[in-house]
Amino acid sequence: VGTSLQDIIGHAKEYGFVFPSSEIYDGLQAVYDYGQNGVELKNNLKNAWWKAMTQLHDSIVGIDAAIFMHPLTWKASGHVDGFNDPMIDNKDSKKRYRADQLLEGKAEQYAAEGNPEQGQALLTEMGRLLSAEDLAGVRELIIAEGIKCPVSGTANWTEVRQFNLMFSTQIGSVAEDANMIYLRPETAQGIFVNFLNVQKSGRMKVPFGIAQIGKAFRNEIVARQFIFRMREFEQMEMQFFVRPGTEMTWYEAWKETRMKFHKSIGLPAEKLKYHDHDKLAHYANAAVDIEYEFPFGFREIEGIHSRTDFDLRNHQELSKKKQQYFDADLDENGKPYGNYIPYVVETSVGADRLFLAAFCNAYTRETTGEGDSLKERTYLKLHPALAPFKAAVLPLVKKDGLAEKAQAIAASLKSSFRTVYDDGAAIGKRYTRQDLIGTPFCIAVDYQTMEDDTVTIRYRDTMEQERVSISELKEKIGYAVSV
Ligand code: ATP
Repeated sequence: VGTSLQDIIGHAKEYGFVFPSSEIYDGLQAVYDYGQNGVELKNNLKNAWWKAMTQLHDSIVGIDAAIFMHPLTWKASGHVDGFNDPMIDNKDSKKRYRADQLLEGKAEQYAAEGNPEQGQALLTEMGRLLSAEDLAGVRELIIAEGIKCPVSGTANWTEVRQFNLMFSTQIGSVAEDANMIYLRPETAQGIFVNFLNVQKSGRMKVPFGIAQIGKAFRNEIVARQFIFRMREFEQMEMQFFVRPGTEMTWYEAWKETRMKFHKSIGLPAEKLKYHDHDKLAHYANAAVDIEYEFPFGFREIEGIHSRTDFDLRNHQELSKKKQQYFDADLDENGKPYGNYIPYVVETSVGADRLFLAAFCNAYTRETTGEGDSLKERTYLKLHPALAPFKAAVLPLVKKDGLAEKAQAIAASLKSSFRTVYDDGAAIGKRYTRQDLIGTPFCIAVDYQTMEDDTVTIRYRDTMEQERVSISELKEKIGYAVSV
């Protein structure tokens, strides 16, 4: 059965995964809250990433830098001058659009009508105008292509303006320019400015990496597609510092390592692909996206960028503090490599986008049985390591000591993994509840349990049941829930 984004949004809300922010006030566009099950799934994803980065790599350590940073940081990073989207308004509907996205939509339309060359030509022309910062030209192109506002249906467009995506606020009490501060639009810069702190205090040797998970903020104008594009979101970034000249080897290695990670958390190979960038950001000499096939098409979930020494060099220039590393290893002539500013290969994935990918991939509707016993079932086929609850313990009935027995089993499992006890309804209904939030194992306690200390495990995906002894539970489930 095909899944729409509406199905996903509905399920996420109904079962406590994602709520619109401040919903009682009709929400806040492109801002979302994670509910009681969502926060568990998201934490599990973050833990899987943290473990893959820091625990499994001797040469990567983590940090947790502040969201607020010195304003010069964003000058050095290029965000003050270059972190813009070209925006255009329709004068009749008063709706604002990203000029590049209007043109991309038109190019897609050409492709859908069997004219992919015409679409490609349009994109090339757009790329040329944008890199020349010819905003009047971009507007003319939109008008020449006859692009109309989907709301008003008219082509009555304003001029195109660059709109900076950074949020700003004041620090301290005086509202002066000097006190203006930004909410970080990426976590990476917190790593760059701490490069030497970590290198020296940890006696780190290049190549080494610094990993971080944290909030980032972007004033996205066109915010659509649920948690895919948010104004407040979380990034999981890792900057890997390498000797100049070796960056392409590391770039290729990280490309592969990161793809493996996505497969290890249960995203299927056929829904993942690489998308190489032909148009590179100002800081990069190579860049690739890992894309996942969402209900609305293949879209970026992670970017891997070879950032050269762009960031460290600019920080050195603006801070007047050397950002160099002394490499005592010997080159082919037997001389130490000496002082240099390291090159950086970064991997950058959005926790929320990864959440959406894992959630979409898990959402399953299927029919079982036939004829009169035909049934539809919805469940979340989450990797057990990601599931909010690993196990549910369910007494068949509440009487005759079954409830107490089940509670004792739940209590004994809780310290090893998240376990829920439920005696609230008919057992079938309780299985369904667990299916809907993705609990991989349901443990039923029945009369036989009282005699021989065995229970049944019901497997979420197959609905098969197996009789096992209570003493085996911890190991059996514990094994399945690690990545
Ligand atoms: P896009 O082109 O979709 O705007 P980007 O190329 O600007 O993304 P990066 O700056 O490379 O994204 O950020 C790295 C990762 O951070 C992205 O792959 C994505 O997973 C996540 N991310 C970026 N912007 C957002 C956002 N507004 N909401 C949620 N996640 C985001």
